[in-house]
Amino acid sequence: MYKEMDKEYVLHTYGRNYVDFRYGKNATLYDNNGKEYIDFTSGIGVVSVGHGNETLSKAICEQANNIIHISNLYLIRPQAELAKKLIELSGYDMRMFFANSGAEANEGAIKIARKYGEVEGEPKRYKIITLKNSFHGRTITSLKATGQEKMHNFFGPYPDGFVYAEDLNDVKRLCDDKTVAVMIELVQGEGGVEPQDKKELYSLVDFLKTKDILLIVDEVQTGIYRTGELFASNLYEIEPDIITVAKGLGGGVPIGGVLTKLKDIFSPGDHGSTFGGNYLSTVAGLSVLNILENHKNKGLLDENMVYFSDRLNQFAKNHDDIVLKSVGLGFMRGLRLNSSEILTKIVDKAFENGVLLLKAGRNTLRFLPPLTITKDEIDKGFERLEKCF
Ligand SMILES: *Cc1c(COP(=O)(O)O)cnc(C)c1O
Repeated sequence: MYKEMDKEYVLHTYGRNYVDFRYGKNATLYDNNGKEYIDFTSGIGVVSVGHGNETLSKAICEQANNIIHISNLYLIRPQAELAKKLIELSGYDMRMFFANSGAEANEGAIKIARKYGEVEGEPKRYKIITLKNSFHGRTITSLKATGQEKMHNFFGPYPDGFVYAEDLNDVKRLCDDKTVAVMIELVQGEGGVEPQDKKELYSLVDFLKTKDILLIVDEVQTGIYRTGELFASNLYEIEPDIITVAKGLGGGVPIGGVLTKLKDIFSPGDHGSTFGGNYLSTVAGLSVLNILENHKNKGLLDENMVYFSDRLNQFAKNHDDIVLKSVGLGFMRGLRLNSSEILTKIVDKAFENGVLLLKAGRNTLRFLPPLTITKDEIDKGFERLEKCF
């Protein structure tokens, strides 16, 4: 009945699986028939503290009973607290703006870069270089920032000024006197779980400094401990000019943000968002950060990432007839398979066997488990996956 309702009234933008999940506990989900699934997707990197997290749900409920939203025209105490907490944990000297999604966070980053190019002397600079295999969102501008040509069908004309590089080394070739920023993911998510090479990155960072070109790191997927540190930028030990976040920050409550060293780039009126940073989402963000900081400090995050990695690598070895290699960092992992047809079959078969998995790029089986997944859940997931191969 709901399936027919959905098909009738909701636009068909997703190839939806009509499973009806009713109950979740950490990395485990149950459907309407009581069937159990291990969730290696965390709602595409969103449910960072797992399903049914009591600390998070208590924080959200208490706030919802009080004030959910008052607008950015007034002080929002948890917004200030969340910005302080996130920036202090990052170790960077920045300020931030709150939005509601990854695409919006990236729009904010692009606006910061464009304003910098406008006010920092002649000639006016506006070009932003991104990578061909990148993903930055679905709004018209963030879609144009996304380097995958196949995604630029139908929706033009697009804003000017986006240029696509093959890889980090190729960026240097494309920089000219109109270039104001370079935007990258440190581990490409949708593009195929591809971490950047450290040496290439450091060489690019040095190059951009000499040219006064801004570095924007899209941490919408890599941020909030996904790779083991608060930001992948922390893990790579670089200091970007602009960082964007979203997915894992609210534990499922929509929230996004852009952080920047350019603390005074915006004046009142330059940018805004009705919902961005409201009481509900920032209380959720604070709770998520507290839970994950604790998990990290206890050593559990690193321990379980290593445990997961060992199982994944062993799995890749056991199935080297299908798996080319294991890829990724932390809890952002993948198995590169020898064909795209097999990828779809395995995702379907895994679902039948009670494991939720994602696809990335052309032939990558993607794993984005909740950061609080237990060893027991990891074991169960891999045992079930074994049956599909
Ligand atoms: C998911 C994602 C986005 C888009 O986020 P939305 O919340 O869907 O707008 C942008 N950049 C990266 C790297 C992502 O993984």
